[in-house]
Amino acid sequence: MISYDVIEHGKPLQVRLRETPRPQGREVLVRVTRSGICHSDLHIWDGYFDLGGGNRFYVRDRGCVPPFTVGHEPFGVVEAVGPEVTGVKVGDRRVVYPWIGCGKCAVCEAGQDNYCLAGRFIGVMSQGAYGTHLVVPDAKYLIDATGLDEAYAATLACSGLTAYSAIGKLPELAARDWVAVIGCGGLGMATIAILRARGVENIVACDVDQSKLDQAVALGARASLDTRGADAVARLKALTHDNLAGAIDLVGMPATAELAIGAFRKGGRYIMCGLYGGQITLPLPPLAQRAITVGGSYVGNLAELRELVQLAQSGKLARTPVEVRACSEINRTLDELKAGRVLGRVVIDMETAAA
Ligand SMILES: [Zn+2]
Ligand SMILES: [Zn+2]
Repeated sequence: MISYDVIEHGKPLQVRLRETPRPQGREVLVRVTRSGICHSDLHIWDGYFDLGGGNRFYVRDRGCVPPFTVGHEPFGVVEAVGPEVTGVKVGDRRVVYPWIGCGKCAVCEAGQDNYCLAGRFIGVMSQGAYGTHLVVPDAKYLIDATGLDEAYAATLACSGLTAYSAIGKLPELAARDWVAVIGCGGLGMATIAILRARGVENIVACDVDQSKLDQAVALGARASLDTRGADAVARLKALTHDNLAGAIDLVGMPATAELAIGAFRKGGRYIMCGLYGGQITLPLPPLAQRAITVGGSYVGNLAELRELVQLAQSGKLARTPVEVRACSEINRTLDELKAGRVLGRVVIDMETAAA
């Protein structure tokens, strides 16, 4: 098998030729056909997350040590199965759920693999999907996405699922309530599409890039806000008629957190998904007085991915922009993503892999 690996953090990925693994027990060997590139791949590539105040979380501390294959949005074809596998057969085409837990702890038993402390997340703690082959520990993590475009289906595993799970954490919305979607890259587009599919119309798209805002409005956001300028909070309050009930922050920097929390009506709920980095100072009494909730959401669980795939198959979900590129363009894509020049989502056609 071939994989495109981080050999040294921050340096171009390199092609590695490795022995194709053989599935044992309940394992399934998937030949990867499409592999989505996610913004969080950049952090793993760089080797750390910025925690603010000069503090960093190093990915090596959770076992991600080069040479390492990133990539956690896989779509592929079952190529071989272990002797104990049931439920899939060779040739089945499937989305791979990547947020795989230990399978033994309380959260895994409750179907919340994504909260497992001993997780084996694909492309994060175990070898990822920028490669031609992937071993999945159990067939239950493979989801039938018949009827969906494979490149688009791949993006549901992370960007779609992250958006879907975050939306599930919003407060109950009344007809006059508004939701802010902060950051209109691939994740923001997925969030707007899912909100619309669930009947939410009062969506305000927030970004610093006018072309992304235009794209968000075209996808169904009712209003848009260029968040640059000192009066952004006041403009957001005015746009939402003082009825901002929820915000999904897909950027996750001090300015975006302060924007949402500052603009909420009473009872507003802030949901942090973005991992850009930094820290904020939060005066505590207003949290109680304004009944504000500050929370986080990290990817989603297996049941949520199944629901999301069904929603996409129902035809109610507007397709977010996906651009398919060849393997030879992985490094260029990472550079462009880092520079903020990617509109929507890039998915790599792993069938173009060449040693
Ligand atoms: Zn991701
Ligand atoms: Zn577990």
